[in-house]
Amino acid sequence: MFRGARSTQCDRNYGDFFGLAGRVTNIGPVARMPNVYIETYGCQMNLADTELIRGHLSRSGYTSVQDPETADVILLNTCAIREHAEERIFGRLGALAKHKNKRPHVQIGLAGCMAQHFREDLLKKTPHLDFVTGPDAYRRLPDLLAGDPFVDVRLDKQEIYADVAPDRGEGVRAWITIMRGCDKFCTFCIVPFVRGRERSLPVDVVLDQVREAAAGGYPEVVFLGQTVNAYRDGDSDFGDLLRSTNAVEGIERIRFTSPHPSDMTESAIEAMASCEKVCPQLHLPVQSGSDEVLQRMERGYNTSEYLRLVDRLRAAVPGLALSTDMIVGFPGEQESDFERTLDLMRQVRYDNAFMFKYSSRSHTKAGDWDETVSEDEKGSRLQSMIGLQEEISAEINREEIGSEVDVLIEGPARRRDDWLAGKTGHFKTAVFPAQGSAVGAIARVRVVDSTGHTLICATDQ
Ligand code: SF4
Repeated sequence: MFRGARSTQCDRNYGDFFGLAGRVTNIGPVARMPNVYIETYGCQMNLADTELIRGHLSRSGYTSVQDPETADVILLNTCAIREHAEERIFGRLGALAKHKNKRPHVQIGLAGCMAQHFREDLLKKTPHLDFVTGPDAYRRLPDLLAGDPFVDVRLDKQEIYADVAPDRGEGVRAWITIMRGCDKFCTFCIVPFVRGRERSLPVDVVLDQVREAAAGGYPEVVFLGQTVNAYRDGDSDFGDLLRSTNAVEGIERIRFTSPHPSDMTESAIEAMASCEKVCPQLHLPVQSGSDEVLQRMERGYNTSEYLRLVDRLRAAVPGLALSTDMIVGFPGEQESDFERTLDLMRQVRYDNAFMFKYSSRSHTKAGDWDETVSEDEKGSRLQSMIGLQEEISAEINREEIGSEVDVLIEGPARRRDDWLAGKTGHFKTAVFPAQGSAVGAIARVRVVDSTGHTLICATDQ
């Protein structure tokens, strides 16, 4: 049983809703409840969707396993944001075919954005694939697995899985998807095409999930959504949700990702400033520092507006740690545009950044445009950008030396025996000697050294 398989208000309706609990599904010669193995690719929302699928399948009689060798159903929950991710997944599907060769009853399927992107073509391209299920079709998965090979990628404007309890994994952090889809249609992005339009969970459902997370021993909740701060339920906006969540006992930390700069309202900024549990950390994707490029991306802001927003946020939340996403080599990006992006990075001084080469996606507006930046040039711009960000991150982390930080302990440090690791409020990895501290506790430690990625700390005991 997974740690997150908890009784919820939603669970009470579960059996009625799906009418499937305890059923032995169609797994050929296997006379027992079937095992499911899920591999997840891509963003945190996909990881949260995997918890949802796992919760749904476990209540329909499936047992989750960690090894495809013992699985009757093998599911890859996929990402279509970049071509490279898709190539990796096709490679992985090829490797998984051996399980079907050895045990022909095994069903292999694809879920998530890539399933939605390629749809029926996937079955043609990959003969050993049995099913393809889009992000709005997980509810029907147990029924469909009992039948013939299938493709179910119907997008559903209403689907929010409000009544499906996720089966959370180990850890100190509960990921809660509070809204799905996106209405922004940035010209490079496939998300609105594979995830559909924005829709939010009702506030009471989100707060139930927060209380369950607290009761289940998760001290931190992270709200997820493609444009998480576009959240709205009637008169309640994202700021209201943060304020209500702040009042939930047992929750120590609240984070969210990814907000869109255009949806960063006064209400949300005020909530970040006034709610002591909301961490002073924000991932605020900028994508480019050139107004011309931002306009072609149809991001809905220019650099002055973005920088004004950064100033307002920093004034409201002193010491705010900022991270961002950036794309190099967007069609039409000149060397001068790229230089402006580097200037913006120097000006904002992000704590961290996720930096990518532009990858053309079919269905998107930019997917029809000629690529103007060669792969070599993209690679070289990306390297310069990463180099600059590493310098900035290392500088910012060095400035932390001597200060005290509160670390939510997640487990043993990877590279040091008898050391623990966790995250600071700024979402930086900190490591320190164990000395009796427990996973899930918050330890106050002193930063004594740093790298670009880690704060090395000491306890004062
Ligand atoms: S805001 Fe833009 S980049 Fe983000 S998910 Fe929506 S379309 Fe994609």
